[in-house]
Amino acid sequence: MSYDVIFVTGELFFDHPMSGVAILKRLLEKYGYSVAVIEQPQSSKDLTKFGKPNLFFGVTSGSIDSMVRNYTPLKKKREEDDFLDYDENVKDRAVIVYSNWIKEQFKDICIVLGGTEATLRRFTHYDYWDNKLRKSILLDSKSNILVYGNGEKQILEIAKRLKEKKDLTRIEGTCVISNEFPIGCKLLPSHDDVSKSKEKFIDMQNMLDNSSFLVQKVNDKFILQFPSPKYTSKDLDEYYEFPFTRKVPKTLRGFEFSVVTHRGCIGGCNFCSLKLIQGEKIISRSEDSILREINLLVKHPSFKGNIDDLGGPSANMYGMDCEKCSSGKCIVCKNLDRSQKKLISLLKKINKIEGIKHTYIRSGIRFDLTNEEYIKQLISGGHIFNTLRIAPEHVDKNVLTLMNKNVDDLNKFISLFEKMQDKFNYKELSYYFMTAHPGSSMEEVEKLAKYMKKLKNVESVQIFIPTPMTNSTCMYYTGMDLKKNKIYVPYTYNEKKKQKNILFSKPL
Ligand code: SF4
Repeated sequence: MSYDVIFVTGELFFDHPMSGVAILKRLLEKYGYSVAVIEQPQSSKDLTKFGKPNLFFGVTSGSIDSMVRNYTPLKKKREEDDFLDYDENVKDRAVIVYSNWIKEQFKDICIVLGGTEATLRRFTHYDYWDNKLRKSILLDSKSNILVYGNGEKQILEIAKRLKEKKDLTRIEGTCVISNEFPIGCKLLPSHDDVSKSKEKFIDMQNMLDNSSFLVQKVNDKFILQFPSPKYTSKDLDEYYEFPFTRKVPKTLRGFEFSVVTHRGCIGGCNFCSLKLIQGEKIISRSEDSILREINLLVKHPSFKGNIDDLGGPSANMYGMDCEKCSSGKCIVCKNLDRSQKKLISLLKKINKIEGIKHTYIRSGIRFDLTNEEYIKQLISGGHIFNTLRIAPEHVDKNVLTLMNKNVDDLNKFISLFEKMQDKFNYKELSYYFMTAHPGSSMEEVEKLAKYMKKLKNVESVQIFIPTPMTNSTCMYYTGMDLKKNKIYVPYTYNEKKKQKNILFSKPL
């Protein structure tokens, strides 16, 4: 049998809504395409397993960039990691390796790139592991088209066009290489310009978004980015209600019965890549769709009564959809619906479903978007699994400003949380912090260390990783903030290590 589409992925394949490839496979199958998946190929020979696809190979490293997965923030090869699902079977620069292997085995086949690695390397980007700028991954991999962000609409359109033998230009949410300069686009500084000037690199960074028709010149070619398609609640309802088997690999056990409520994040943290993946607007699923999914889950033979995690990138952004403008400033906007009424109503309804013991919220929450009613529901509704996770990241105002996270007072939230406790159901907070972010000198770290001493459950302190295309990575590379003011940046192995050790009072 020959397949229309063959996905090649760096991750183990699992049929679950947490897997992007699983959603795309289910969607393509719904529209009549046959789909196969090759997981973790180790040689070009592995790519011949299902022969040549009728339409295209879809290539991804999975949900994480392969270099982030394979190396620690101090650039050592990962062996074991508490937070990342390290897997020695994922090749370094997986997307480029797999694309080259496909070309070795098959002539004239269309290669479609997707996933985080492709999305965050679509234009010229700083590569921390090479410590240099790299061109768009479309050029390095010599692929036909790149899908950025969530790719459901794009992948259906690509399959349709290839089936109808039409060309692949102007598909929303994709990037292609062109020989011609198009009209009506926003021109980014060229690869040449940003390679020569750090100021130009910052100009480029400030222009990146998912909703513009962007173009970058690289030598005599142009990389074209067509604006992302609009995804709606209805679209998400369709994707997340596919009848997934929910079998997951060992590392994801305990999350089989997680339910996704929304996509996107309005937080805009500078170190985070979500803005350029899922976008900076919230798209929530309808309450009916979520309840339908949960009503089916309770009938699953392995279901023991617990929803393992109910959420999205930040669990409490559910229902914060707003389409009034595109300023990207929702987090500080007065129009934002902060009542959390929709989420509280949803949680109450889920708890009433027969067969549900607990609906846990294990995704982190944005503490500055909470209120008394919501915290009360978290505690009295039994939604906190062990501890409630929050990510203040830092306590120094300047570092927080560079992180674009200079929001509400952490102490105020901790007091509110304590005030809401009931003695029969006492719960604690746990904290995530980050060190060695641009702007963080020893002075700021000492301030954080002093604050951390007062806290009970510091779950993690991560050394900042300059992942491709984020605002913080731009600061790291240029040594300047986004307004081109010089800032302090810790660069050396020793300094980063020292910053982390101080936080845990380890000897230097
Ligand atoms: S009006 Fe405010 S909440 Fe709505 S989209 Fe604009 S910035 Fe966001």
